[in-house]
Amino acid sequence: MRVLIAEDDSVSRLVLRKALEEMGYSVLAAKDGEEAWELFQKHPFPLVISDWMMPGADGIELCRRVRSLREKGYTYFILLTARDSKEDRLHAIESGADDFLSKPLDRAELASRLSVARRILDMEHRLREANEELARQKEELELKTQALEMSQEMIQQANLRFRELFENVPVACYTFDAGGVIYEWNRAAALLYGWQEYEVLTCSIFDTIIREEDRELMQELIQRVMRGDGSTVESVDRCRDGSTRYVLRSLFPLHGSAGEVVGGICASVDITQRVEYERELRALNERLESLAFTDALTGLLNHRAMQDHLAEAFARARRGEDTFSFVLLDIDHFKRFNDTYGHQAGDEVLRLVAQVLQDNTPSDSLVSRYGGEELSVLLPGYRLKDAIPVAENLRQAIAAAPNPYRQITASFGVAEYMPYMHSPSDVVEVADAALYEAKRAGRNCVRPLLGGAHRQAA
Ligand code: GH3
Ligand code: MG
Ligand code: MG
Repeated sequence: MRVLIAEDDSVSRLVLRKALEEMGYSVLAAKDGEEAWELFQKHPFPLVISDWMMPGADGIELCRRVRSLREKGYTYFILLTARDSKEDRLHAIESGADDFLSKPLDRAELASRLSVARRILDMEHRLREANEELARQKEELELKTQALEMSQEMIQQANLRFRELFENVPVACYTFDAGGVIYEWNRAAALLYGWQEYEVLTCSIFDTIIREEDRELMQELIQRVMRGDGSTVESVDRCRDGSTRYVLRSLFPLHGSAGEVVGGICASVDITQRVEYERELRALNERLESLAFTDALTGLLNHRAMQDHLAEAFARARRGEDTFSFVLLDIDHFKRFNDTYGHQAGDEVLRLVAQVLQDNTPSDSLVSRYGGEELSVLLPGYRLKDAIPVAENLRQAIAAAPNPYRQITASFGVAEYMPYMHSPSDVVEVADAALYEAKRAGRNCVRPLLGGAHRQAA
């Protein structure tokens, strides 16, 4: 330990210095208060032993100056003195002195005073360290508190922002618990359902917007939410005025601070308009489709539709699933009829024949206006021998149909699918050849033709 001595008496100075050095101290000695003060200012000492009475700055003055210097670490100040009046000592202690050594110097006393000094300096040192540690911890705590306050503020702000988002998002949103009780209800929900927030809070969704028929499904969805799973379904919700809206309903779980599910949030997008558009579009499409496959004059299938059905029947027959027969009929001397009664009357007759066909064909058969005044009947599952009576029946029905102009007749060609045929048009070709036969045979009759026979004839 370093010690500064201030002593104007050279002998005393030497004695003290020697004694201290023998005890292991590293000593700097000044011959008066001023010199000691200069040394101290350059480099403070933990221990100063100073004579009281010195010319210039005396021991009390030096002590005062040392105390005025707020240096890091404490300086233990011992006054050397022959003065032992109570007042003097009190005055010295007030000036900042820690202890006294009597003059002349007694070695044993010096040793014991120094041991007190060391103990106090040691304690002071430990206290200072503890203080520093405390200050460090305090600073750390302050930083942590600051961070906590900041994060709390951020959470508060985030809460506010989410609150605002929830309130103003243009999608009906509400929160609910496991029993379906409503806890929050945003502006868009009020707009969609017609219920104000104060009217539905703490009410059940089942008493307000969920239809009775959807109760079970919704309960299931809530249970899923409580298990932590979200879901999205298209559904129909009830409004306050009893009307209904189509909604795309999305449910998400809401978590508590410990991560547990405390309820759910539901966002319902109003898709009523979309659903209605879709419905209209579907109806329009159906109508367009039927227009595309229907003959405008007779209401029968048109040529294209019959081609499709023929292709299907042909494919089925090809796979060995089901055979079919095809009947082609043509009104006799229709040109002459048109010429006599006019085209309009001819149209009427076409409609009439179409009606006769529809009324007299089996329910699973397909009747089409194959082209001009040529009509056709596709008979799924019919062998040739079963198709001939159907055609014959139709022939008779046409000939017997009451007609405001004159009797109308038609000629019939009948063909059945044959395994050698390559395409649906082969069947049509055979039926056409049979029809030609019927015309040649004098009209108003039915002629069947087996594919093989036609092939031989050709
Ligand atoms: P057949 O078949 O007995 O040999 O004699 P046809 O006079 O019926 O035969 P053709 O094929 O020569 O004439 C068919 C006529 O059918 C010609 C056309 O004026 C008439 N026709 C075709 N389509 C229509 C239609 O949509 N409306 C009317 N009114 N007539 C039509
Ligand atoms: Mg014709
Ligand atoms: Mg004709």
